[in-house]
Amino acid sequence: MEPVRSSVDSYLLDWPVSLTRWLQSRIRKRSMKFIAVAVLCLANDARVWSQGQIVFNNRVNNVVVARVFDVVVGADGAGSLVRRTLLGPTPKERLMMAAGWFARGTAPMAVRFVTDISGYLWLFPRPDHVGVGICAPLAAVPTRRMLDRLEREVAVSYPALLDDEAPRYAHTIPSPSADPRSILEVAGARWALVGDAAAFADPITGEGIFFALRSAMVLAQTLRESGSPAGYPARALEDFGRELNKAAALRDRFYSPGLARRMIAYAGRSRAIRGVLADLVLGEQGYLSLKRRLVRTGPRFLLETATSSLFSVA
Ligand SMILES: Cc1cc2nc3c(=O)[nH]c(=O)nc-3n(C[C@H](O)[C@H](O)[C@H](O)COP(=O)(O)OP(=O)(O)OC[C@H]3O[C@@H](n4cnc5c(N)ncnc54)[C@H](O)[C@@H]3O)c2cc1C
Repeated sequence: MEPVRSSVDSYLLDWPVSLTRWLQSRIRKRSMKFIAVAVLCLANDARVWSQGQIVFNNRVNNVVVARVFDVVVGADGAGSLVRRTLLGPTPKERLMMAAGWFARGTAPMAVRFVTDISGYLWLFPRPDHVGVGICAPLAAVPTRRMLDRLEREVAVSYPALLDDEAPRYAHTIPSPSADPRSILEVAGARWALVGDAAAFADPITGEGIFFALRSAMVLAQTLRESGSPAGYPARALEDFGRELNKAAALRDRFYSPGLARRMIAYAGRSRAIRGVLADLVLGEQGYLSLKRRLVRTGPRFLLETATSSLFSVA
């Protein structure tokens, strides 16, 4: 099996600009057509829908147009119109809230786990700014309190990045539950959802870029082979969906009080544990095989812990 999540290539650090450029050049090379429009509504009445009708606003001349398509793919993000029309909104308990701001300046990349929210804080440096953010389950903490928390931590540890003038943002990140049905629901006769529209972000980390690209690939393969999206959900489940279900099942344990501190302490003592954690962060280690790998790592961990204790005594 391929890596569960690929590491984010450096060119993705200034996405979406470079990724959009790359996608548009691929579209041109394949003589396909890119039309920049805002989709306004989608007919879901069975009689109209059987014609695959979609209504959009052409941004260039601002004309409202209705057209019929063979298959509609909802790649329209967390608030997906396609999802809301054809499936229903993602349930609240499957939403994570991410809030923060883009600060001028530069900083090292940093991730901080805190004990009072089931989430984390981050600094992600980009070519011309630093992404400063915090995420937690939507229902757990009001967004204003999350932002207050982030501002307090940044004021203490990185005061130069507080940037009062930078507008604060808040976005939801949708993910599946532990139930495979939350993956199997993402397509119908002539429609399919990918990425955030399908709620395919990692329930533990909120990372969704890899799964957005991967789900699009799985759907494209399915459409190319069968001309229909019918087989896509089952294929997505086998390709990456079970990993996401497993992550949802592990989520509460992952954020249980003290686990992050214990793991960091173990990593300080054992190279084997450091290896597991690094692979987890880089997306080379999946959740399904995590327990097996940790058990396999056990003897080396004990040996390394004993050795490090010996040396610290000496
Ligand atoms: C603050 C924050 C930080 C994140 N950090 C990371 C990270 O470090 N790593 C990671 O892997 N993931 C991260 N994620 C998650 C990641 O951004 C998403 O999972 C990913 O962007 C999903 O891709 P997508 O293409 O499905 O949706 P989106 O990137 O949201 O793209 C949807 C597109 O559809 C367009 N659209 C929406 N409605 C319509 C309409 N009606 N008509 C026409 N177009 C429409 C939108 O304009 C948008 O361009 C983060 C999310 C947030 C909120």
